[in-house]
Amino acid sequence: MKVPFVTFKEIEKELDGALRGAFERVYEASWYIGGREDAAFEEAFAKYCNVSYCIGTGNGLDALMLPLKALGIGEGDEVIIPSNTFIATALAVSYTGATPVFVEPDINTYNIDPSLIEAAITDKTKVIMPVHLYGQPCDMDVVMAIADKYNLYVVEDCAQAHGARYKGQVVGSFGDAAGFSFYPGKNLGALGDAGATVVGSRNADPKALADKIRALGNYGCDYKYHHIYAGFNSRLDEMQAAFLSAKLPELDRMNARRRQIADMYLAGIKNDRVIMPTVPDYAEVVWHIFAIRCDDRDELAQYLEDKDIATNMHYPTPMHLQGAYENLQIPKGTLPVAEEISLTELSLPMYYGMTDEQVTYVIDAINSWK
Ligand SMILES: *Cc1c(COP(=O)(O)O)cnc(C)c1O
Repeated sequence: MKVPFVTFKEIEKELDGALRGAFERVYEASWYIGGREDAAFEEAFAKYCNVSYCIGTGNGLDALMLPLKALGIGEGDEVIIPSNTFIATALAVSYTGATPVFVEPDINTYNIDPSLIEAAITDKTKVIMPVHLYGQPCDMDVVMAIADKYNLYVVEDCAQAHGARYKGQVVGSFGDAAGFSFYPGKNLGALGDAGATVVGSRNADPKALADKIRALGNYGCDYKYHHIYAGFNSRLDEMQAAFLSAKLPELDRMNARRRQIADMYLAGIKNDRVIMPTVPDYAEVVWHIFAIRCDDRDELAQYLEDKDIATNMHYPTPMHLQGAYENLQIPKGTLPVAEEISLTELSLPMYYGMTDEQVTYVIDAINSWK
């Protein structure tokens, strides 16, 4: 049996008519940027996230960078992010001119350890950017209490957590703003690059913030050829918006299947050499990634590959050891938890359309590894 790491075949088969219909609709309208498809998806996604505003963007990186810019973050400012995340979280900060400050994750949840945040706050700190990594919500009560205490903005990185809930509240609705990615492999994926920023009710003036984010993504324009900011070009195009509108109604069902797969893994994998993920009581996880850990990670990956099971690593090199962040001069050994995760984490196949037989095959393979 062959088990890919991820495929989109099943959802594309189920939604074949809807996706082709979306293409036809946009093609017939012959209108490709900034039209009714974008507006319709933004309205539906804002509703899904239980917020008032949604602004489509070109990708997830911009969906995080634009709200930071709109909040006035720039050179001389510091933004607290977890030390283990996809590099886009850090780059969103760097592109504003501000400095990312890495705070170690909790080794059990892989999310930022809230008990370490206060020690990282300086008089330059402006924002906390929690990342709901692998589809698991951060401990938001604690994060928000710290942000309130020090009067900091909160911008959530929800790129891996569409629909995840913390104590029943959907992620993206806690902070001043939140960024989502619709990269094809994400829980809600477009058929190309796409993203969105949502603006929650924490901000004192959410409408003004949303207007500024929208203007910044459209050449800093508030109305045509009137440029009030030195903006960017990052818009959600009509074609991707139409595809996303076809897929959004299926998101909860797709996440529910991921949860079933995760439950099978959690109940079925029994191997002393493998550390399974922990799910805190507060978390409704959407399992973007099913991350296990193992001291002999590369050996296990090879063992599974020999059985035609594809795996992945998220992420093999922590950000502070990447060439991109050489300038921060954070030596190896400084962020031991992020480094430990990078050496031991292995991501198992997880996607809508994975069959029970495939899940059982992966479980049996791991259990047979001695
Ligand atoms: C995917 C991802 C992003 C960036 O999204 P893109 O659409 O690829 O730009 C940001 N943060 C995290 C945690 C991600 O996984």
